Amino acid sequence: MLTEEDLEGIAVAAVERAGLDPHEPQNPIELAEGLGLVVLMDRWPGMRGPAVLARVSGEHRVYLRPGLPTVTKRWAVAHETAHHLLGGGDEDMADRLAAALLAPLPAALRACRAKGPSYFDLARALGTTASAAALRWSETTGVPLALVTPVRVRVRGAPFAWPAPAAIRGLVKAVPRGLLREPLEPKRSVVRASP
Ligand SMILES: [Zn+2]
Repeated sequence: MLTEEDLEGIAVAAVERAGLDPHEPQNPIELAEGLGLVVLMDRWPGMRGPAVLARVSGEHRVYLRPGLPTVTKRWAVAHETAHHLLGGGDEDMADRLAAALLAPLPAALRACRAKGPSYFDLARALGTTASAAALRWSETTGVPLALVTPVRVRVRGAPFAWPAPAAIRGLVKAVPRGLLREPLEPKRSVVRASP
């Protein structure tokens, strides 16, 4: 089981191996290509998601569905690159590594210091959604945060006495003392420890 620290280390090492600077947010296509992957704007038979990682005639390829919005494209390539680096890995781990590849720790620290928990500004700086920016902000600062979406509850930051996910959903509606609720994209919000 890889820790958060392991994933940050894997991301920085990969960015450096690709000849890129971990103090900057990354262009994931440039990063993937720097790691020897071939990125193709093309469909793959039976592809359901925005991208697929495939091995074809000895090449590691990322097939990227044409016409995706930039932020989706960036995330999808980073996610497939994460699977490549992990030699598989589950979805949650690939998402965590993807976030660290798009904004390696030195770059994330700098952006979080500059933008603070202004998730939409941070998202613009990092080229992600506001939700992904909020998770990265929490990972970087350690401030306990829960992202609540219609389908999932994700928790980041330092250990915190969070209730069960279903109860975290309830915190969005009735925010107790000591916590803050901040809206993100439609139907998505974060609940975090207030300073
Ligand atoms: Zn995946």
